[in-house]
Amino acid sequence: MEKSKEFDVVVVGGGPAGSTLAALVAKQGNSVLVLEKEFFPRYQIGESLLPSTIHGICRLTGAADELAKAGFPLKRGGTFRWGASEEPWAFDFATSPKMAGPTSTAYQVERSKFDKILLDNARRQGAEVQEGCSVADVIEDGDRVTGVRYTDDAGVPHEVSAKFVVDASGNKSRLFNKVGGKREYSEFFRSLALFGYFENGKRLPQPNRRNNILCVAFKSGWFWYIPLSDTLTSVGAVVRRELAEKVQGDPEKALYALIDECPMISDYLSPATRVTEGQYGEVRVRKDYSYHQTAFWRPGMMLVGDAACFVDPVFSSGVHLATYSALLAARSINSVLAGTVEEKAAMQEFETRYRKEYGVFYEFLISFYEMHRDEDSYFWQAKKVTRAERTELESFVELVGGVSSGETALTGAEELAERLHGNSAEFSSAIGAMAADKGEWAPMLQSTVVRSAMVEGSKVQMQAQLGEDAEEETPLFHGGLIPSPDGLSWVPAPVE
Ligand code: FAD
Repeated sequence: MEKSKEFDVVVVGGGPAGSTLAALVAKQGNSVLVLEKEFFPRYQIGESLLPSTIHGICRLTGAADELAKAGFPLKRGGTFRWGASEEPWAFDFATSPKMAGPTSTAYQVERSKFDKILLDNARRQGAEVQEGCSVADVIEDGDRVTGVRYTDDAGVPHEVSAKFVVDASGNKSRLFNKVGGKREYSEFFRSLALFGYFENGKRLPQPNRRNNILCVAFKSGWFWYIPLSDTLTSVGAVVRRELAEKVQGDPEKALYALIDECPMISDYLSPATRVTEGQYGEVRVRKDYSYHQTAFWRPGMMLVGDAACFVDPVFSSGVHLATYSALLAARSINSVLAGTVEEKAAMQEFETRYRKEYGVFYEFLISFYEMHRDEDSYFWQAKKVTRAERTELESFVELVGGVSSGETALTGAEELAERLHGNSAEFSSAIGAMAADKGEWAPMLQSTVVRSAMVEGSKVQMQAQLGEDAEEETPLFHGGLIPSPDGLSWVPAPVE
């Protein structure tokens, strides 16, 4: 058994949750070790992202510029054949004033590439990352978790100590129950997913919506259709639990049989061929993926991302919840390590905000599955669930864009900069650089205007500059905390 040095934080798993947390904690000068079982790039499902991840969190972590260079298809919204309407309907993120302008997009990503960019960024921010290392257990001292036991790629067992252990090892986590409580599976969302990849499928006709996620309901469930490049498409069927027999047997045959049930997806795939080699060559099945752990932390340990909870993929909320929970956890850890907030208060802040965001998606999704409704009714429900003072449509778009919590850190700084410096030549030319819809954001992100807006993006500044359009950072509960101006820790809310 080898004993290595002690770290401030050991992160188990280098997916979006783990790499985001590692970057945000390392950025504050804390020592971080990420232990990842696989060697990246590795396959993962979860390819359709939200603006909050790209323009909010990935900017805070420092990964946004690298993502901009990767050439991922730019997603402007979603197109749905869903509910009572026979005709497909669509939404654009740009409908929300919170995501207006350049922050109104996200990416459709090949997760092998996206996750590697995030993990490499965590390294760049100062985290030590060891791949091929599988964590088997936590080390405890009384109530407190004080480290982990893991085996490296050569099969050598290790122990490492840490002030905090964060389990970010996804839905197959071996550690999540060490935090206490239990994993509760949703009774409502008990679906199965069956998915594969196709070359040369059709694209949506409208140029601006070409890269939208397309979701198509049919008798047995619904399909996602996600363009990952000009030619490659991720296609998955989500099937109701009581129809599980449709997913039994040969997965490829089952997928084709489901495609045959759905005229719109059959049509879109009519010129396509299924990919049969490499990371996309397999038709995969996933089940029991909607759950939450009844506790998210204990002294010295936290759960983030799929290790903590996940709910149904229809609104692409998985990576959003993974990266947002990582941001919340990083703030708590940074505050405790800096000695500015007591551990219990910091952990309660993390858990309350995380459960609230998960709850908004969960509650809204339940009504979204009521297929007799039309889209206006879904928009109305979004307003009700988010309690937003926006129109119904704006409330819906903000919920499915991941920005309904009103957190400044999720909406990105460009919108602020645009409003603050709308006439600035530097900003205008930076915006111009992305006109060709190629996702070339880097010049804009390098703009000193944008950078200074980020630094200035405190609540006070937002209030002063944006007036009533700015959302105040408010505590969620009496005595609760609010994000610090740089977004990386918690501070007490001003006393009224
Ligand atoms: P993961 O991405 O699972 O990363 C966990 C990492 O931990 C992995 O790299 C793993 O190798 C590592 N690990 C595991 N065990 C250990 C161990 N013992 N030691 C060390 N390392 C370990 N989300 C979206 O945003 N958009 C979508 O379109 C979408 N579609 C989905 C479709 C389906 C059918 C499903 C089931 C999910 C979908 N999701 C989607 C959800 C998305 O896949 C997850 O929410 C997201 O990947 C969670 O990120 P994570 O970092 O928590 O975990």
